[in-house]
Amino acid sequence: NFTVKELLEKGKELNLQEVTVQGWVRSFRSNRFIAINDGSTIKNIQIVVDFEKLDAKILKKISTAASLKVKGEVVESQGAGQEIEIIAKEIEILGEANPDELQSTILQPKQHSLEKLREQAHLRFRTNTFSAIMRVRNSLMFGIHKYFNENGFVYINTPIITGSDAEGAGEMFSVTNFDLEKELPRTEEGKVDFSQDFFGKQTNLTVSGQLEGEVAAMGLGKIYTFGPTFRAENSNTARHLAEFWMIEPEMAFYNLDMNMDLAEDMLKYVIRYALDNCADDMQFLAERFDKEQTQKPQNERSELSLMERLDYVLNNKFVRLSYTEAIEILQKSKQNQKKKFQYPIEGWGTDLQSEHERYLVEKHFKTPVILFDYPAEIKAFYMRMNEDGKTVRAMDILFPGIGEIIGGSQREERLDVLDEKIEKFGIEKEELWWYRDTRKFGTVPHSGFGLGLERLVLFVTGMGNIRDVIPFPRTPKNAEF
Ligand code: ATP
Ligand code: MG
Ligand code: MG
Ligand code: MG
Repeated sequence: NFTVKELLEKGKELNLQEVTVQGWVRSFRSNRFIAINDGSTIKNIQIVVDFEKLDAKILKKISTAASLKVKGEVVESQGAGQEIEIIAKEIEILGEANPDELQSTILQPKQHSLEKLREQAHLRFRTNTFSAIMRVRNSLMFGIHKYFNENGFVYINTPIITGSDAEGAGEMFSVTNFDLEKELPRTEEGKVDFSQDFFGKQTNLTVSGQLEGEVAAMGLGKIYTFGPTFRAENSNTARHLAEFWMIEPEMAFYNLDMNMDLAEDMLKYVIRYALDNCADDMQFLAERFDKEQTQKPQNERSELSLMERLDYVLNNKFVRLSYTEAIEILQKSKQNQKKKFQYPIEGWGTDLQSEHERYLVEKHFKTPVILFDYPAEIKAFYMRMNEDGKTVRAMDILFPGIGEIIGGSQREERLDVLDEKIEKFGIEKEELWWYRDTRKFGTVPHSGFGLGLERLVLFVTGMGNIRDVIPFPRTPKNAEF
């Protein structure tokens, strides 16, 4: 018993041996050649039907999408593009596929749009494009675990149900076990009385494991989390999901420079890892990307092919630029002066929108950029205040075609400064007593960042919409599957 991948890898080594392989029919040509795929690789194995040995009644039932178990002999292939094929001696149909019903599905062999695939997300695992993306996604995840484990990080899990809002962005899904059909208990002021709820307080799905991760790093040194993250993003963009997977390393004794070095090194490692381990899938996706570019209007085309873009990222140091320098570049840009930005840059202090980030990366530098030292007002409370009293040690890593892929910072380790910030941001100090404790007992400089897995998968696969790189996307009004 072999998977298709194993068969093709062994190739001629298996010549004249009898093997069993199972999979789904991708195509059935001339009543003689069946291409089957089992999801282990982008490639199919060709089954050649031997009419004398096989029952005609069975052959009639074979159609695209049916599942088969095939026993046969491996022979060298006469056709181009494949080393071996199997002369079938026995074919068992595990599951037929009704040809009439098949018509309206994406299993019907022809080019389907990505939108169409999304509507049948449960079936798209059988398509070349989506299965290739899933295997690359798997490789990236594995590479991430490998990188951190090889570099002395401890993988920890932070709670999915939390009592804190680390980002303060108000994009939370609440968690309750109140019976919402019944009248909710109220306090004297008329607010919902969460003291009677399951946890005795208001709780939410996590928007980031950072605060808990910091606390863990203040004892374990270097940790990372890799878990589901939930944000009630109220906009429908190609870069935001309501449920995504975030990698959050947190390191004691790291300053912002060390944080940037780590992030850049990790990104390069995992991209290389996926390229090495998913060569066939990447070749398929690269061809797909390059073909797609030729169909776009000239000014929207990527200047580089997918492989060139990945090579470029792997072989060049990311540009490091302060927020202040970035604002100067943006303000002077023709784009800004001709009022081509939807949000014109007004001056120092404005938050950058993705159009600005993409201008810097795609038009100005044409390379990944790490922006650092942002105005304190536009960043979260926990970031380390710089000596200028205006900026914080934040960093965002911006990628071509993506925009922000990583957001991170050195954290504020000084209790007095932290308390000032907590007050300024209107956060209840008592709620963060556990977080503040680490600053009371042996505080140290420390840093960390958050990487959105799906943004990384988007970049590596060259896809344009984040819904196409996660098995079951969660977006506004979409929780079908
Ligand atoms: P953006 O500016 O794109 O909304 P953010 O600044 O709100 O991102 P952070 O809080 O910095 O995001 O989170 C860290 C990383 O998590 C981001 O750099 C990005 O890669 C990823 N990320 C954030 N929000 C989402 C989302 N809704 N869907 C997918 N990935 C996300
Ligand atoms: Mg956001
Ligand atoms: Mg951002
Ligand atoms: Mg961010």
